[in-house]
This record gives sequence, structure tokens and C-alpha cells, in this order.
Amino acid sequence: MEILSGVHIVDNVVMPGPGGANSVNIVLLAGDDGRLTMVDAGPPGAEDAVCDYIGKIGYQPADVKRIIVTHHHVDHTGGLAGLAQRTGAEVWAHREDAGFIDGSVPRPPVVFPEDRIRAFMPEATPEQMTEIRKRMEQGMKAVPVRVDLRLSGGEELAVLGGCTIIHTPGHTPGHLSLFLPCRDLLLAGDLMRYENGVLSGPPPGFTQDPEAAQASLRQVSALSFQHMCGYHGGFLSGNASNQLRFDLEKM
Ligand SMILES: [Zn+2]
Ligand SMILES: [Zn+2]
Repeated sequence: MEILSGVHIVDNVVMPGPGGANSVNIVLLAGDDGRLTMVDAGPPGAEDAVCDYIGKIGYQPADVKRIIVTHHHVDHTGGLAGLAQRTGAEVWAHREDAGFIDGSVPRPPVVFPEDRIRAFMPEATPEQMTEIRKRMEQGMKAVPVRVDLRLSGGEELAVLGGCTIIHTPGHTPGHLSLFLPCRDLLLAGDLMRYENGVLSGPPPGFTQDPEAAQASLRQVSALSFQHMCGYHGGFLSGNASNQLRFDLEKM
């Protein structure tokens, strides 16, 4: 779906959740150079849906010039190896997450917090709990991928009138957000989520340094943007940075 001129969310990409499949937002930026920039690469198995969508909007996989990964988590990098291969694109990530992506640093284990599972299955027995965890962990494995460019934050891209890469640590040490002033848009990765009319910060159980994440939220709240697209949840259109400033105290 094209949410703003030249800004697409790939249709039909889902990941396993405790209550069933949840959709995620892989973004494609269709720049005026005839090439595409992809932001995040989906969970394992997302490759076909992404390539189908690229065809649907009149491009080919080889038109993807770069894949920018907001952070190393497997729901963002599970499809990366396959997509890097099928597109020939460069892989860009923040230097503090790059080692988890290329396999030179072991990924911290993913532990699905009990309360997140209980939110969907309040009556789950310990056996069911183990079963659900096993199913989710099996669906969430990523193979190492070469990182072509290690970012620090502050880089500028000539895409859609300009795009600034912002280091927004906390959820992971190398988490990135992308700011596109000409589209009035912040791509927030897992820094923010908008769902059922509520704007929230990164998920507590999966966030490495909540204080740093809070500082990152403050940092982006100083920007001005109408629209916000996080990787999970919906697209917030209209007054997004004002809403963030208003809601920040509750996060
Ligand atoms: Zn994450
Ligand atoms: Zn995520």
C-alpha cells in the first residue's frame, strides 16, 4: 500500500505472535533515481511477499539499491539473507547492531515474556506456555548476513527529497529511525508503535535499555512530522509529533 507519495508498506507480511499472525511494516521508498530503498527485511520467509510487491508497483528486485535495517531483531532481519541475495542490494545497519547481523557477535537470546503470552492466553498451562515459546522461537531464526555499510547516525540520503538516518538507541544499542522531512514522515522501527489510537514506546520485555529508549523518544519528539510509521502496529497520519510530545509523559 502506498501510504504517501513514493512511500510503500509491503502488503501481506506477517510474523508469528502468541495470539496468531501479526502484520509488520516493511517500507519501500521509491526514489526519483528509479531505484528502491528498503527499510527492514521482515521475519524469516518474507522474501516472496516482498518480491511480489516490488513487481506489483512496477519494479524488479534488482532495483533495490540498499536495505536499511533499523535493528538486529529477527523479525526485522529474518528475511534479510534471502532479500539481499535476490535483490543484490547493499545492507546498511548501525555499527552497534552490525555484529549481531553478520554473526560476529552472538545475538542475545530472545525470551518471550510470560505476561505477553498471558495477554493472549490467560489460562495457558506451563506445558502450553513452553509449546508456544518453542513455536515462536522456531519461527524466529536468522542466518548471518554481511553488512556492507556500518552507520553511526546522522547520514543523509538523497531519497524522496532527503532522508536523515537517526541513531535512536534503547530498544537495541544500534536502533535507527529515518526522518523524511519532505514527506513529513518518521519511520520509527520499534521505537514507537501506534495501535488502536494509542501511541506507545518500544515493547518493555524486548527493550534492552528502557532509559535510553526514553531519551530517544525525547530526541525525535523535538522534530516536526505529521506522519509516523512504526514497524509494528498501524500508520499514524496527522499531528504525529504533537501527539508524541503530548503522550511522552505516559510512556
Ligand atoms: Zn525489535
Ligand atoms: Zn520488531
